[in-house]
Amino acid sequence: MVLDPSTLSNLIVVAAGFAAAFTAALWLSLIFWTYRDIRRRARDPLVRILAVLVVAVLFLPGMLVYYILRPARTLEEEFQQTLEEEALLQSIEDSALCPGCGRRVRDEWVACPGCYTRLKKPCHQCGKPMELAWNLCPFCGTPTPGMRRDNMTLDDALRNLPNEQADNGLSASSSPPGDQV
Ligand SMILES: [Zn+2]
Ligand SMILES: [Zn+2]
Repeated sequence: MVLDPSTLSNLIVVAAGFAAAFTAALWLSLIFWTYRDIRRRARDPLVRILAVLVVAVLFLPGMLVYYILRPARTLEEEFQQTLEEEALLQSIEDSALCPGCGRRVRDEWVACPGCYTRLKKPCHQCGKPMELAWNLCPFCGTPTPGMRRDNMTLDDALRNLPNEQADNGLSASSSPPGDQV
């Protein structure tokens, strides 16, 4: 098949038309995409207009420039990050202070690693940490050994002397080393 010159020029016109239409569509979509993208990244209207202008005027190289210069994070990501930072700060502020040295200590810690102050005592039954003032484990309901001594009269103490000694022996052996530090 041999193409005569008029068919060939017609083909070229059609191809050029397609190319122009495609380029125009690409240009418009890039502008639209940039507008949508910058809206999620910047609140400043001037920045938004500038970004769209750069892409509209410079086209593909402008797209490259925009891609390099656009804010790295979207507003939503920035908001999420702020929330996370605030939550982290809050959890730090909420944590308890060691009564011995004032360091921040975690709730589940039994002793302060800085000054060795006793913070909690382990339940002798289930081993969960209890406040030092508690006489009953809130997890398993076991009373602390020897807790009744506080409420006992002198008579009771004398009457229960053998039991008391046994109790002392029990609590002394059950208390972990480093108790008195
Ligand atoms: Zn401490
Ligand atoms: Zn317990």
